[in-house]
Amino acid sequence: MIKLNHLDYYRLPWNLTDNSISWLEPTAKCNLSCDGCYRKNELNSHKSLEIIREELDTFNKFRKCDGVSIAGGDPLLHPNIVEIVKMVKEYGCKPIINTNGLALTKDLLKELKQAGVYGFTFHIDSKQNRPGWKDKNETELNELRYQYAVMLKEAGNISCSFNSTVYEDTLQYVPEMVKWAEKNIEIVQVMVFIIYRAVNTTEAEYYLGPLKIDMNKLVYNEDYKARVDIKAEEVVQEIRTIYSDFDPCAYLNGSEQPDSFKWLLTGRLGTKKKIFGYMGAKSMEVVQSFHHMFNGRYLAYSSPKMTRKGKSLLTLSLFDKKLRKAFWKFYKNPLNIFKRLHYQSVMIIQPIDVLDDGRQNMCDGCPDITVWNGKLVWSCRMEEQLNFGYNLRTYPKDFLKDKKAEI
Ligand code: SF4
Repeated sequence: MIKLNHLDYYRLPWNLTDNSISWLEPTAKCNLSCDGCYRKNELNSHKSLEIIREELDTFNKFRKCDGVSIAGGDPLLHPNIVEIVKMVKEYGCKPIINTNGLALTKDLLKELKQAGVYGFTFHIDSKQNRPGWKDKNETELNELRYQYAVMLKEAGNISCSFNSTVYEDTLQYVPEMVKWAEKNIEIVQVMVFIIYRAVNTTEAEYYLGPLKIDMNKLVYNEDYKARVDIKAEEVVQEIRTIYSDFDPCAYLNGSEQPDSFKWLLTGRLGTKKKIFGYMGAKSMEVVQSFHHMFNGRYLAYSSPKMTRKGKSLLTLSLFDKKLRKAFWKFYKNPLNIFKRLHYQSVMIIQPIDVLDDGRQNMCDGCPDITVWNGKLVWSCRMEEQLNFGYNLRTYPKDFLKDKKAEI
């Protein structure tokens, strides 16, 4: 596996109280059953608008953010999704809908646009048992991704992102998906790759205080055997099989392992025919700091109107060596001055790692924080909150048995 040095990149300033995103779950009901899902599909789980407002109040009381990811389950199944978007906008945040897209119609999209939706993150991958697309691999699913991207383009100025869970057997398709995103850089602003995680009881045991927990109770205890320890660097390595100069610019480290990449951000500049280069640590620092200085929040999502201004980003090459390479590559042909240059993000997310000694390496500065019982909690561990009221502790297998024997 390639080794990236985290000190070469910009540590994103996102933290518990001052972040770029927050995660709102108006429902746990879903119309798909993805293999890697970490939320139980609850049919009667739509929250009332009162409760959703309380949760937004809790975010507002404890945390600043640029965007609110409206997730679930699938939020489009909530009967008041249009009102929820209006509500999020009222709090001065960008409403971003995280959906598998199945329930999205042109009419609903029109209503959501009028309500102020800022963007969509479509969760599309080959392990969703999606009707009509069941046996399609990730590359074949680009056809479906394209349909949603065109739908948003026609609606106008709505940020378009795709997220896919990366499994051991789908890692090979990531480069082709990044290539597809290049060809559609004018209508796709973000590609997110979330590395698959599930409970691994062969190496760790889960405890609530002194009580050992049977993890079969929880949805993220998977039956089939697949790697649950793929690292962000492995995804970069795979992408480099097509883009040898692919290079991130910023990251969030692990809460236990400082040199682990939990969120790894790459910013690239290109046209649908060519990628001219990458943002460096300095230019991403300028973008985040300026956005915070002028808007009081760190930047999460940019609209298509913003991302097609790649040439203005090139001015930051004054401070940024990596971006300077892109500058010279782009203007090597002076006629490019008449061309549009687009910015596109590629984000790799590496959820929880249970380390050999049982420590849990979470994302330090978790952007997907949600609300439960008036508290801010990790949305990826919500099942533990719902079942036990706490996040479970982990110990290496038989660790406590051996300890008890010693004591
Ligand atoms: S800690 Fe969990 S919820 Fe937060 S960003 Fe990481 S994977 Fe997502």
